[in-house]
Amino acid sequence: MQDKIISILKKENLNREDLIILLSANAVDTELIYKKAAEIKSKHIGNCTYFRGLIELSNVCTKNCYYCGIRRGNKKVKRYTVSDDEVLQVVRYALDRNWGSIVIQSGERQDAKFINRIEDLLRKIQALSSEKIGVTLSLGEQEIDTYDRWLEAGATRYLVRIESSNEDLYYQIHPKDKLHKFELRKQALIDLRNAGYITGTGVMIGLPYQTMGDLADDLLFMKEYDIDMCGMGPYIEHEDTPLYRYNDVLLSVSERYNLTLKMIAILRILMKDVNIASATALQAINPDGREEGIRCGANVIMPNITPIKYHDAYNLYKGKPQIIAETDEYIKKLEEQINEAGDLVGYGELGDPLHFKNRTKP
Ligand code: SAH
Ligand code: SF4
Repeated sequence: MQDKIISILKKENLNREDLIILLSANAVDTELIYKKAAEIKSKHIGNCTYFRGLIELSNVCTKNCYYCGIRRGNKKVKRYTVSDDEVLQVVRYALDRNWGSIVIQSGERQDAKFINRIEDLLRKIQALSSEKIGVTLSLGEQEIDTYDRWLEAGATRYLVRIESSNEDLYYQIHPKDKLHKFELRKQALIDLRNAGYITGTGVMIGLPYQTMGDLADDLLFMKEYDIDMCGMGPYIEHEDTPLYRYNDVLLSVSERYNLTLKMIAILRILMKDVNIASATALQAINPDGREEGIRCGANVIMPNITPIKYHDAYNLYKGKPQIIAETDEYIKKLEEQINEAGDLVGYGELGDPLHFKNRTKP
């Protein structure tokens, strides 16, 4: 089997079968995949990891995804929204530390009040940072006009995870109604790209009944959509969600963790110059999980800079790290681990994916 893996890793174009073989590799052979991913990362984008300060803006959500702890139907959740002043305070924190970018993430809302508020907030952030800080949005599906307005107000990147590229699986983890349409989720990626955003997607790994073939298709989906960035992480069950009832058919937590690292490494092999985030959900399983992601080909880490008082309430999944904010001491340790993994931290740089620059070159 090792010979087979070695010969696949030498190929220029990987097909679905190749991907399934790589995803099924044993622990020893997996090291070969990680090594190859690390080589490609070093050669094509360099050994640099970027920090993005993550702001979990609000857990108010109009959707009801079956896996998510802050879904509309979870009445146990105390809903919150971070104020503009509080956001600006943490943006200042990121600026003071010379991080090039922030990410604003939230439950999904499409009402005018929300859209206007985000637009105003983006302008305030740009004013505060003298237009120096990169802003990624992760605010769910929106109308084209909204994407345009937010781009105009200063956002440059947008992340909408497809969650699973298998339509059947998508509808096993989402209600089949007009709020959760697979076609619209895909359309969002096309609209964002057409609007001019640096566009990202991603999937959850280890969903109930997800197969290696599904994961191979997820990787091919990202290639086909020619995405610029990817954030993917292990599915982690939440007891107050409908998907929890499939708990006994899940891969073990450590299998989901290892499979996520493999997905990161294989995506790096497949798409050499994209940005890949080492997801927070990895850290929920292993305190050093995000750093391991860096070793396997990821180049972005999103330290959570949401004001601490809100951390408990943004509970997407069980065991989400309730970090004592990411204190200076913690960030210092994180940087040391990134260095140990062979990377430097890209301070003062936007860290836009080379893939976007290459694909939009005149
Ligand atoms: N509402 C926006 C952004 C916030 S949710 C959206 O859905 O696009 C951000 C991501 O959290 C989702 O895309 C999903 O992949 C992830 N997530 C939610 N519940 C999860 C769970 N139980 N385990 C792992 N990831 C989860
Ligand atoms: Fe809302 Fe996003 Fe959670 Fe779905 S995944 S319920 S859209 S926050």
